[in-house]
Amino acid sequence: MVSPLSLSFFTFFLFLFLSHPQAQAQSQSQSDPQSPTNDPPTICIIGSGIGGSSVAHFLRLYSSSSNSNPFSIHIFERNGVVGGRMATVNVSGHTFEAGASILHPKNYHAVNYTELLGLKNKDPSSDSFSLGIWDGQKFVFKTLSFSSNIPFVDKIVSLANSLLMFLRYGFSLLKMQTFVESTVNNFLKYYERFESRPVFETVDEMLKWAGLYNLTTRTLQEELIDVGLSPLLIKELVTVITRINYGQSASISGLAGAVSLAGSGGGLWAIEGGNWQMAAGLINSSDAALHLHEEIDSVSYLGEYYELNSTKGNSYKCEVAVVATPLAELNIQFTPPISIPKRKLQHTHATFVRGLLNPGYFGLDAVSEIPKLVATLEDPDLPFTSISVLKKHDEKDFTYKIFSREPMADILLDSFFSVRQETIRIDWGAYPHYNAPEEFAPFILDDRNLYYVNAFENAASTMETSAVAAENIARLILSRFFSQVLLISSNLGSNSDGEILHVDL
Ligand SMILES: Cc1cc2nc3c(=O)[nH]c(=O)nc-3n(C[C@H](O)[C@H](O)[C@H](O)COP(=O)(O)OP(=O)(O)OC[C@H]3O[C@@H](n4cnc5c(N)ncnc54)[C@H](O)[C@@H]3O)c2cc1C
Repeated sequence: MVSPLSLSFFTFFLFLFLSHPQAQAQSQSQSDPQSPTNDPPTICIIGSGIGGSSVAHFLRLYSSSSNSNPFSIHIFERNGVVGGRMATVNVSGHTFEAGASILHPKNYHAVNYTELLGLKNKDPSSDSFSLGIWDGQKFVFKTLSFSSNIPFVDKIVSLANSLLMFLRYGFSLLKMQTFVESTVNNFLKYYERFESRPVFETVDEMLKWAGLYNLTTRTLQEELIDVGLSPLLIKELVTVITRINYGQSASISGLAGAVSLAGSGGGLWAIEGGNWQMAAGLINSSDAALHLHEEIDSVSYLGEYYELNSTKGNSYKCEVAVVATPLAELNIQFTPPISIPKRKLQHTHATFVRGLLNPGYFGLDAVSEIPKLVATLEDPDLPFTSISVLKKHDEKDFTYKIFSREPMADILLDSFFSVRQETIRIDWGAYPHYNAPEEFAPFILDDRNLYYVNAFENAASTMETSAVAAENIARLILSRFFSQVLLISSNLGSNSDGEILHVDL
């Protein structure tokens, strides 16, 4: 019997082959760096990634009341482009996703954004897929990498690969699928209607309500052993997935691990032209004033408002301030000081190479024998986490993406590339370094109106989890600052006939 799960694993790895057009600086409404007026109240958001742009979106969506402009929104972004960790890279004229690449089919906020903003899903790659798990000396597991233009042949190769996977990992694959599905089902509670879904003041409360909290108190490995996964599956495929998605081993916390494994299902997708367009579109449609190249270095509470100061020397007055970026590795001065648990970010070095791998490095005779995704086991001596083909230009000309925990020195790259025409390196402060039991920063940093979207990222880091956290922050702001009984006009708050419900937040 061939498990449908094992088939679906192949689609997980497809994200490594998705390519994307170039990111541009997109300032929809860059305003002069002047203090906003107090009337209407001003909501300032630090960070223009999916988190910050989603806060702006949901604030507008949930407050379309009789007062057409109940508040103004200002978004501050230290870079010259929006999108944060959703960004693309240009490698000799071709653009590829450099950070967040794949979306899950049940990432419903992203699905809605795509529809709302008129964005297009990227067509799935038609290239055949192959995986090799490299231990530094040999491939401990390798799928067939035969590729043909005949769909029927491709299907047979794909089935044969599924069978190979089943023969190696057996029914543990199904147990893993059940574990992931149950976590995804719990997560779906965050899309329930307002009547049944409270506004959460803490991450702990939000996770407990959805039945996800316990997963953050133990490691993924512990969880998977409990559900009966074989040690081989955990050591190989599970570890390969957590290393690629979070740059960390299977000892990350269980929820981050489950989210990471959920990216191994079928139906993964991305946005044609780059995922950053979600942030750009949301900022535009929520009529927010966007301040690019404006790095906020202090946030001070001055009685009735917050004063945000930027490294350029500009000051902004805001009744509500929202931090939509991880505070680890940032040096924002808060007055009065805030207290949050210390976090470390996991750095992932993404190196893009146009060139040709050396098959000899992998003990192979021809480039065509190298799997399209070379993934690695957890071994500190291995210099890379994964190498994947992003694009095959011709038989001797490819673009590759390499993930590693340390920077890739030229001398190291030259040990496994026979040709290197262009090399681009990006050092991402990529996601939290996960440690069970996790400790969470509060959503409300000062008991007043200073909010922290990325408190939720310490449960799991994805575009969608940022959007889910942002939606909760928008509801928190509307209920706490505006004490509000506003007209709710969201899909999430509409009944099955699409009739708008009036709900107290
Ligand atoms: C290599 C990589 C691969 C990934 N793959 C996936 C994937 O396939 N699927 C997925 O769903 N997720 C993936 N992720 C995770 C995903 O990118 C993040 O979880 C998500 O994009 C976080 O969005 P955010 O808005 O919360 O933060 P960010 O995108 O980091 O946005 C924060 C913004 O704040 C700005 N900023 C920071 N400090 C200041 C300041 N002082 N003043 C002004 N602006 C400031 C930053 O420049 C940034 O633009 C990946 C991440 C990386 C790095």
